[in-house]
Amino acid sequence: MATRLKKILIDFDGVIHRYNSGWLGEGQIPDAPVVDTASGQDAIQWLRTLLQCGHFAIHIYSRRGSDPSKGGIGAMKTWLSRNGLESRYLKRIVFEKEKPESFLVIDDRCLQFKGEFFEPNVIKNFKPWWKEV
Ligand SMILES: [Mg+2]
Repeated sequence: MATRLKKILIDFDGVIHRYNSGWLGEGQIPDAPVVDTASGQDAIQWLRTLLQCGHFAIHIYSRRGSDPSKGGIGAMKTWLSRNGLESRYLKRIVFEKEKPESFLVIDDRCLQFKGEFFEPNVIKNFKPWWKEV
């Protein structure tokens, strides 16, 4: 039967949304999708690729979702749709309610985003350091 999907958490601002304008409020998403600095594909294409490959449950997290009265999750969905993500993909994305504010995330299960989207196999085959030793 179907294999269990790996849950992948993706930050919205700075990975999906270009975020040139900085923080303007939960529902204000003025910038374009991030474009991969090497391949030129944009974040919408990348999300489509991850959803199409069949290995992942995609969760987007952002502090935009922390106060439901401010409409941040709806604004992210609208932004993804306006930038071309088809509803059949959009409805498969889970939107987390918050991302804790921090200077830095230190985690044994993360890939540092440096402007180039990760191929599905890089994500699929990721191993934390303690599985490499
Ligand atoms: Mg970010």
